[in-house]
Amino acid sequence: MTKKQLAHLFDATKCIGCQACVVACNETNYPEMIGREVPGKNWLASNIRRITLEKARRPIQILVQCQQCADAPCVKTCPFGANYYDENGLVRNDPKRCIGCNYCIASCPYDARWSHPITGLPSKCMGEGCLERVHDGLLPACVSACPVSARMFGDVNDPNSPISVKLSVAKSQKLLESHGTKPNFFVVVQK
Ligand code: SF4
Ligand code: SF4
Ligand code: SF4
Repeated sequence: MTKKQLAHLFDATKCIGCQACVVACNETNYPEMIGREVPGKNWLASNIRRITLEKARRPIQILVQCQQCADAPCVKTCPFGANYYDENGLVRNDPKRCIGCNYCIASCPYDARWSHPITGLPSKCMGEGCLERVHDGLLPACVSACPVSARMFGDVNDPNSPISVKLSVAKSQKLLESHGTKPNFFVVVQK
């Protein structure tokens, strides 16, 4: 049987920039920091960042998070082997091994990790709250919260999953593929 590869899809043609996903991520994964920004950063404590794709035909704003890279610099960089791939192809951090050196934060080309000000450990998508949701058969918080269905999540190795069907008909891009990270995050740029 083919191994599972869970992945996120962000549909830039649908997103209205309402930030409901960012708030849902904050509330679901960081209840100890609800409504609070990360010290020194100008963003809510969540795993989603807003970036601008300058090289597109016209600059577009997109929201990004951990790309669940199949060849992840953060996994290779950690001197303590604290980052690993789980059975669903997600990149995870083992807090028992992690000493908070933050090498992984520096190595991520997507700026997807941040240092939690209370635990001192690196945070990223998917947070514990969303992992629990997925374990319980629910969608991640950001996917559920989006009012215009601009987000999807599922197994891209299953050709019949909704995310695979969407990818088979829409034009999508992966980000920074030239870095050799083999990202599992898809940005739909054309319906
Ligand atoms: S899947 Fe969960 S942790 Fe990841 S961005 Fe969405 S809400 Fe945040
Ligand atoms: S996006 Fe960054 S944090 Fe996520 S797997 Fe890739 S290198 Fe690691
Ligand atoms: S909730 Fe949906 S529409 Fe709102 S910012 Fe997030 S992806 Fe875009």
